Amino acid sequence: GKGGAFSFGKSKARMMDETNNTVTFADVAGCDEAKEEVNEIVDFLKDPTKFQKLGGRIPRGVLMVGPPGTGKTLLARAIAGEAKVPFFSISGSDFVEMFVGVGASRVRDMFENAKKHSPCIIFIDEIDAVGRHRGAGMGGGNDEREQTLNQLLVEMDGFEASSGVIVVAATNRADVLDKALLRPGRFDRQVMVGLPDIRGREQILNVHMRKVPIGADVKADILARGTPGFSGADLANLVNEAALFAARRSKRLVEMSDFEDAKDKIYMGPERKSMVMREEERRNTAYHESGHAVIAKLLPKADPVHKVTIMPRGYALGLTWQLPEHDVLSGYKDKMLEEISILFGGRIAEELFVGQMSTGASNDFSRATKLARSMVTRFGMSDSMGVMVYEDSENEGFFGGATKTISEATQQKVDAEIRSILDTQYALSRRLLEENRDKVEKMTRALLDWETIDADQINDIMAGHEPREPKSGVL
Ligand code: ADP
Repeated sequence: GKGGAFSFGKSKARMMDETNNTVTFADVAGCDEAKEEVNEIVDFLKDPTKFQKLGGRIPRGVLMVGPPGTGKTLLARAIAGEAKVPFFSISGSDFVEMFVGVGASRVRDMFENAKKHSPCIIFIDEIDAVGRHRGAGMGGGNDEREQTLNQLLVEMDGFEASSGVIVVAATNRADVLDKALLRPGRFDRQVMVGLPDIRGREQILNVHMRKVPIGADVKADILARGTPGFSGADLANLVNEAALFAARRSKRLVEMSDFEDAKDKIYMGPERKSMVMREEERRNTAYHESGHAVIAKLLPKADPVHKVTIMPRGYALGLTWQLPEHDVLSGYKDKMLEEISILFGGRIAEELFVGQMSTGASNDFSRATKLARSMVTRFGMSDSMGVMVYEDSENEGFFGGATKTISEATQQKVDAEIRSILDTQYALSRRLLEENRDKVEKMTRALLDWETIDADQINDIMAGHEPREPKSGVL
């Protein structure tokens, strides 16, 4: 461990007191939103009673969610550093490999110690190791984990929120956590800490480049552009490796060539496989989103596209943002047909340009099918089936299955009609994308370069020009 951290009591938790934790918000870059969200916690820890008097809702548990190496631990330490309070840290995996009862008693000890040092922060890394929903897995060793989890829940309910202990936990799998952990009064705040975008990468590089002597030819913005998919930890590692190259070459400054070699080394190292995969996935996503966006721009009734991005947010890989032109629901037949085409655009672009399809399209597919089904069976929008309602969604599933009120023969006609709508819209999208290959390619390249493009850049591409440089602040 780092100097200043020490073990105490029976708890395996390490405490770092306010004098040797020097991490502040200035050390955490490229995640301004997350910093803003935790700022309130700093205010609270600085002066719990004053915070209460001002009427602030007292925070208790914060869950940081994001891939490894994105700065969740760093941010938790920075909260403690900014507020100048002690920081206790333990990893969820420390709890689980123990004899029955030990994990639970460690949790108890840790909270007891923390309360003595309040206001303070308890940080639990990899909380999913203990916090997986109960009953998951195959019994056996699970008893211990469940006891530990139960103890954690008891502790979180047991201390007064005003006692000044804040529990921060980190995970990259919020979806596997026991729902009990996320209830009000427990980890009821979630802060997303995602992979940094291009500007975030530049800022993170700048933070770490401050620590080494850097040559005049080194450009953080160029390095940021060449490191898509790198986490904060990857970028810190890049600066470190570059410094090692420079040292081996007996240089006094770290130069761009050292960074280039370091990047090659990282790409070829054990990390390589996941990075190459990330890069491939990024390219697929760029084509997929360009497919949606180009179709949305070409069809007359579709809402304007104001932004397209391949920055991963939450669980979606990318997004095409359309703003409705007027404040109406998409209730018109033409518009609904176009929506189906837009939904198909992503998948077709993958087919045409990548030659293989990702699972990213499966949700688009089910949405398109649902829309077509509603048009035929509920909205009376099919020419051949007429304006009759064939299915009442309110009754659907009431007795466990769909209520069958129509004959087998009619059902077949309904299915055929849905199929025909989908086929027609699919063919339309495919033709449009084939006729506009250059635009899809251009948009994909712009997305790979900038990750997010705005309405002006999209319009440039659709007009057949090169997109203008992004406005500052857009990314
Ligand atoms: P996580 O807890 O999300 O797995 P860490 O906080 O442990 O990631 O990050 C490991 C190291 O990577 C940090 O100590 C820091 O050097 C670097 N790092 C990660 N994210 C950032 C960031 N947003 N800004 C600056 N450095 C970062």
